[in-house]
Amino acid sequence: PVVGARVELSDLPLREDLRGRTPYGAPQLDVPYRLNTNENPYEPTDALAADVVAAVAEIAGDLHRYPDRDAVALRDDLAAYLTEATSVTLTSENVWAANGSNEILQQILQAFGGPGRVALGFEPSYSMHPIIAAGTRTEWSPTPRRQDFSLDVEKAAAIIAETRPDVVFVTSPNNPTGQSIPLEDLRLLISACTGVIVVDEAYAEFSPQESAIKLLDEFGSRLIVSRTMSKAFAFAGGRLGYLAAAPAVVDALQLVRLPYHLSALTQAAARASLRHASETLGSVAKLAAERDRVSAALAEMGFQVVPSDANFVLFGWFEDARETWKSYLEHGVLIRDVGIAGHLRVTIGTPEENDAFLAASKEVSR
Ligand code: PMP
Repeated sequence: PVVGARVELSDLPLREDLRGRTPYGAPQLDVPYRLNTNENPYEPTDALAADVVAAVAEIAGDLHRYPDRDAVALRDDLAAYLTEATSVTLTSENVWAANGSNEILQQILQAFGGPGRVALGFEPSYSMHPIIAAGTRTEWSPTPRRQDFSLDVEKAAAIIAETRPDVVFVTSPNNPTGQSIPLEDLRLLISACTGVIVVDEAYAEFSPQESAIKLLDEFGSRLIVSRTMSKAFAFAGGRLGYLAAAPAVVDALQLVRLPYHLSALTQAAARASLRHASETLGSVAKLAAERDRVSAALAEMGFQVVPSDANFVLFGWFEDARETWKSYLEHGVLIRDVGIAGHLRVTIGTPEENDAFLAASKEVSR
């Protein structure tokens, strides 16, 4: 028996507000087709992997020292990437990095949310936003999207103006529904906001929509754009998220970040991975084309498909989404039950994986 196994959660002096909550828990199952966490299906090239190994080897002799606490070289590289991608000239002062964009979002709520403060999100959206709000004791204020999952921007702006949340999350493209928000709409929301708007652009590279980074110069005191290397950059296992904002925002986050939060290993591996950005990002066009092929094939089979700008597709309608999810799993295909009635979400994989998913789609119970 495991030491301490008799201790129940209810025996612990846990914070009252955390009792009864459920943790984030996308299943990690060993099945042939894993299409449930929106990763990039293409593994790193041999050249990239070798460069990561060489970069780690180079710093291995210095591991007795703490890493660069400010990760300046990495932030320089990220700023250069964003500058090239958006044509907005950014420097390391505009960029902050952490262990995945989840940590970025947590630091934002630690600094701009917290007890007595409110964060608003347009649901359904990324399930970690309310979980990170709970962890930081930020009151969560969910605001519904339209029936078709699009955002009623005028209504959203009116709610923001009226309720004056301290933090507003806008996910673009939205996970799990796939739509992105045009800059004009975003302008309306930011103008209505007295707090900060966090545009979560985890899937930006897959979208034809312009990045919110374009609005940073205009709205520097109100806007934070969050990004990640977990999706388009195929670096989910490396854990590297980042943000673009006014330098003062980066200064604010220094008050809550843990010292040396980004290990020397992470910094070295992320920089090596960024040196191969152009080859890695070559997969983006392939995945977008596969997304459109999968969407069309699903529609052809009579499914309702939500239009997506990301590397996943939400589709339905199922009498019992949980049962259908299990039925996919029996066919060796792990997709995601995101808790939206009648719908499931599939991550776009390689053509072969997508074919397996489409073959299963013909046979699952609806
Ligand atoms: N934001 C959104 C919208 C996401 O879908 C995800 C990953 N599922 C994240 C942030 C966090 O990703 P990571 O911590 O790997 O950067």
